[in-house]
Amino acid sequence: MQSEPETVCNVAISFDRCKITSVTCSCGNKDIFYCAHVVALSLYRIRKPDQVKLHLPISETLFQMNRDQLQKFVQYLITVHHTEVLPTAQKLADEILSQNSEINQVHGAPDPTAGASIDDENCWHLDEEQVQEQVKLFLSQGGYHGSGKQLNLLFAKVREMLKMRDSNGARMLTLITEQFMADPRLSLWRQQGTAMTDKYRQLWDELGALWMCIVLNPHCKLEQKSSWLKQLKKWNSVDVCPWEDGNHGNELPNLTNALPQGANANQ
Ligand SMILES: [Zn+2]
Repeated sequence: MQSEPETVCNVAISFDRCKITSVTCSCGNKDIFYCAHVVALSLYRIRKPDQVKLHLPISETLFQMNRDQLQKFVQYLITVHHTEVLPTAQKLADEILSQNSEINQVHGAPDPTAGASIDDENCWHLDEEQVQEQVKLFLSQGGYHGSGKQLNLLFAKVREMLKMRDSNGARMLTLITEQFMADPRLSLWRQQGTAMTDKYRQLWDELGALWMCIVLNPHCKLEQKSSWLKQLKKWNSVDVCPWEDGNHGNELPNLTNALPQGANANQ
């Protein structure tokens, strides 16, 4: 067996209050789960925290430099990445030297290495686009080629997140539900008056069960519950939204009862 050629990947991971808030890797693998390189770097950082140097945000480091050091810094940076950054460097130089340019209208400059502020929400990195793409793909395969199993694995992931009280659980389920609602077969079945397949019905049941877990979660805030209820009602009002078995009204009795009485008054 031929061994794979060794490839070097550039991995960047951002942390915020003990959570990984963003990841990038030059391998370009697209998946809901982190690629092997991100996992490897995370494990390395956990096991050998002293080996991974902690850097200040670049804006603060630059602030410590004097005129000559800044000149040296920029020239070296351009020399190392000559072909990639030179066009951008020249464009920026032109803009900075032109008094009326847009860049001179605002004070300061962006710093991608600075963390979020304390008031910003922090949650684990989740590639939303990948979740949408995968669910869409699995749904288009109609439960064949293991796609039903894959969807159930995604549901299991949501369940696991809810168990860990990870706010991405609801976020991921929202993305999944949006794709389910956008499934073109829904309107087809509605037009033809045919019932959905058993396999498909089971997936919708699981979707409903997970939403039940979210709205009945005793740890979540009232505002959050209200916003989910609003979202669920919105989906429920869509023509093609499948009915719950035996429930032919457009009420959501279980969900509505999950909220204290006061919260319903303004609906
Ligand atoms: Zn990678």
